[in-house]
Amino acid sequence: MSNAYDVVVIGGGPAGYPCAIRAAQLGFKTACIDAWLNRDNTPAFGGTCLNAGCIPSKALLESSELYHRMQHEAAAHGIGTGKLELDLAKMQARKDAISKQLTGGIKQLFAANKVTGLQGFGRLLGNGQVEFKAHDGKTEVLKAKHIVIATGSEPVSLKIAPFDGERIVDSWGALEFTEVPKTLGVIGAGVIGVELGSVWNRLGAKTVILEALPNFLPMVDQQIAKEALRHFTKQGLDIRLGAKVLSAKSGKKNVTVEYEVGGESRTETFDKLIVAVGRKPYTKDLGADVAGVALDERGFVKVDAHYKTSAPGIYAVGDVIGGAMLAHKGIEEGVALAEQLAGHHTQVNYKAVPSVIYTAPEVAWVGLSEEQAREKGHEVKTGVGPFAANGRAKAMEQAAGSIKIIADAKTDRILGVHMVGPYVSELLAEAVLALEFAATCEDLALTMHGHPTLSENLHEAVLLVDGRAVHAV
Ligand code: FAD
Repeated sequence: MSNAYDVVVIGGGPAGYPCAIRAAQLGFKTACIDAWLNRDNTPAFGGTCLNAGCIPSKALLESSELYHRMQHEAAAHGIGTGKLELDLAKMQARKDAISKQLTGGIKQLFAANKVTGLQGFGRLLGNGQVEFKAHDGKTEVLKAKHIVIATGSEPVSLKIAPFDGERIVDSWGALEFTEVPKTLGVIGAGVIGVELGSVWNRLGAKTVILEALPNFLPMVDQQIAKEALRHFTKQGLDIRLGAKVLSAKSGKKNVTVEYEVGGESRTETFDKLIVAVGRKPYTKDLGADVAGVALDERGFVKVDAHYKTSAPGIYAVGDVIGGAMLAHKGIEEGVALAEQLAGHHTQVNYKAVPSVIYTAPEVAWVGLSEEQAREKGHEVKTGVGPFAANGRAKAMEQAAGSIKIIADAKTDRILGVHMVGPYVSELLAEAVLALEFAATCEDLALTMHGHPTLSENLHEAVLLVDGRAVHAV
C-alpha cells in the first residue's frame, strides 16, 4: 500500500521537519504533513520559525540594527553618511526572500532524503491512521507505525486586546508593517515583545512596552537584566514595568490603551499595538481526543521522557509539548525521537538550553542565574566581566554590556552564564559547551582565547570569579 509509512510526522516546523529527515536517513519510510499557508496562500514548510518567527524577525533585526548603527555609530568611525534613507518595502522584501530561500531548502532536503512532503492538514484517526487533507481539499488516509505530533504553537490572544490584524497585531503581523508606525505600543516585555519593540524603535517608532511584572526579564540573572534595561532605555525604548493593561480599543486612526501602574490609571494612544504575551500549544482539529492523546490543563500534549504520548505509537515534540518554546529545543527533540525509534540511545540535555534575545546589545544565557542558584541551595561565587574593558568590543564601538559567570563555590562547577553585549548569542555556544561538559571555572580559566576577540571577555569573567583577572581595575 503506497500510503503506508513507518513514520508520519504532523507539522513541518523546526521540530517536525528534522525529525522526518532523520527518520528517513535511518531507513524509515517517512512522510511529513504540514499545513502552513503564508499570507498569499502559498504553502511553505518550516513552521512558525522560518515563516513568521526566528528567521524573518532576525532579518528585520539585522536591517534595523544596520540602520541604527549607520545613524549613531558611523560618525565615530569617521564615516559620513549624508542623509540616510529607509526603504521599508525593500527591507521587507529582503526579509521575505530569506524566508522563502530557507523554506524552499526544506523541500530540497525532503527530496534528497526521500521524505514525502505533504502540504495540507493532518488529523489523527486512531488505530495508526492519519487523515491528510491537501490544500485543494483532496483527502487520503495514511497508515503509520509511528506518528509524531509536531504541530507547534500560536500566539496567546487577550480578550481585553483582541487582534484585529490591522492596528492590534500578533508577532506575525508585527513583522509585516508596511510603514514605520509613529507610535507603537507593545504588551509584554518577554523575548518576542522586546525583540519586535526594539526593531521598530530602531526604525523610528516611538515605542512603549507595557509589562505587568515588576521585574524586567525575570528568567535572566537580575544583574544582567538590569544592565540590559539600562541600555535599552538609553536607546529610547520606553519599558514600563508593573503596568497592567486593562483594555485596548482599535479606532480608525489609532489604538487606545488603558492600563494601571502603581495604582494609577493611565490612557495612551498608539498607531499600532503588538500583543506579545506568550504562545500556547496548537492542537486545533488534530483529533487528539479521537486517538486518545492526553493534553495537560494548559493544552500541551503530555509526553514521557521518550516523547511517548498516552496513545501507543504516537509521540510528540517541539512547542506543542511545552518547556522552552525554542526552535533549537524542538530540533533536538525531533532528531532524538527519530533516533530512539531506530533503537539508538539519545538524550536532550534540558539543563543546557541556550536562550537569546536578539536585541542590540543582545541578551543570552544558559543555566542558572545567581538568584536561581541560591534558591537551589548552592553556595554561589560569581565573576562579571564588562565589555568596556574588551579591546575588540571597543574597536567595534560596541562596548556596552557584561558577562556574568555563576559558579558553585564548593565544587568550582559553572552553573550558569548570563550575558548582555555584542554578539553574545555567538559567545553563548562556548558557555553551553562548558555546561554540557560540566566544566569548572578552572577548566575555562585554563582555556586560551584568541586576542582580540569578544570571547576573551568570557575568559576575563571566569578569571574574575576567583579574583585573578589581570585586566580588572
Ligand atoms: P512550529 O514552528 O509552530 O511548526 C508547527 C507546524 O505545524 C506549522 O507549520 C503548522 O502550520 C503545522 N501544523 C499545525 N497543526 C497541523 C496539522 N494538524 N496538520 C498539519 N500541520 C499542522 N525560537 C528560537 O529558537 N530562536 C528565535 O530567534 C526565535 N524567534 C522567534 C520569533 C518570533 C516572532 C516567534 C513567534 C517565535 C520565535 N521563536 C524563536 C520560537 C520558534 O519559532 C518556535 O519555538 C518553533 O517554531 C517551534 O517549532 P515547532 O516545530 O514545535 O512548531
